[in-house]
Amino acid sequence: MEQIHSDVFMIDTMLGGRPGITGAYLFTGDQPAIVDTGAETSADTVDAALASAGIGPGDLAWIVLTHVHLDHCGAAGILAERYPSATVVTHRRGAPHLVEPDRLVAGTEDIYGPFFSLYGGLQAIPEGRVIAAEDGHEVPIGPGRTLKLLDTPGHAPHHSVVLDEGSGTLVAGDAVGSRLEGSGLFPAYPPPRVDIAAIRASLERISSLDVQTLCLAHIGTVDDVDADLARSDEQARIYADAGMAAAQGGAEHADMAFALEEALPLVPNVGDDHAAVLWRVLGWERNNAMGVLGWARHEMKKAAVQD
Ligand SMILES: [Zn+2]
Repeated sequence: MEQIHSDVFMIDTMLGGRPGITGAYLFTGDQPAIVDTGAETSADTVDAALASAGIGPGDLAWIVLTHVHLDHCGAAGILAERYPSATVVTHRRGAPHLVEPDRLVAGTEDIYGPFFSLYGGLQAIPEGRVIAAEDGHEVPIGPGRTLKLLDTPGHAPHHSVVLDEGSGTLVAGDAVGSRLEGSGLFPAYPPPRVDIAAIRASLERISSLDVQTLCLAHIGTVDDVDADLARSDEQARIYADAGMAAAQGGAEHADMAFALEEALPLVPNVGDDHAAVLWRVLGWERNNAMGVLGWARHEMKKAAVQD
């Protein structure tokens, strides 16, 4: 576990048994909270990390989820069972999927195909233990201290960032992009589609907050917060321009992948060969082409309806 502040820690959830891919953030204190849990296949790793932090089955008060993609929420079902005092909090549009996860899990299985087993599924969580958070929902974690969920759609319509004003820590989920193994920032735009205008509006919202430490789900902390937010916005603009031009030219998935690689090449942006290999092996680079193509086609359809 890596200490971020006196009472804030990062747990590497060891997705696929490997470090440097997916993190969870632990806020210790009176009412301990974990923000994101990693995939279901990471449940034992996260459980062991909580135990090593001295958090027993009756101690964990909150499981907060930035969004309900399986690499972030998959272990939540198992952990909710093992930590019966924990209440699960996520965006109101994501919460129903925790109670009835079949559709979410099947949809992910469709997208990931043979890579699905890397993540596992999601065990259903009893409805009475799930809070569907409105924008600004506050989770109390200690005297005068809360975690605030802020709507930040774009990566997913049900995405929240989680702000601890006490320490200036923002758990950004996937709202700002990813730095696998702490490498260079690169977009995380998953299928079926993202909303690039919403991604940019969410980045602007994050810029308006007083953030000292930005925590990425993939993975770790960012010191120069403004630089990453500006870079992420620039990458969104590049993907939007290149993606729309390709889609209007009739691009299919492979054409889109080539167009995005030309506009924003992976290796020089990530700046680390091993991290670039991870982007490709995990299929996350290919996911970007699918997420952008889905976005572009949706925007074109909207424009056609308005004409
Ligand atoms: Zn993610």
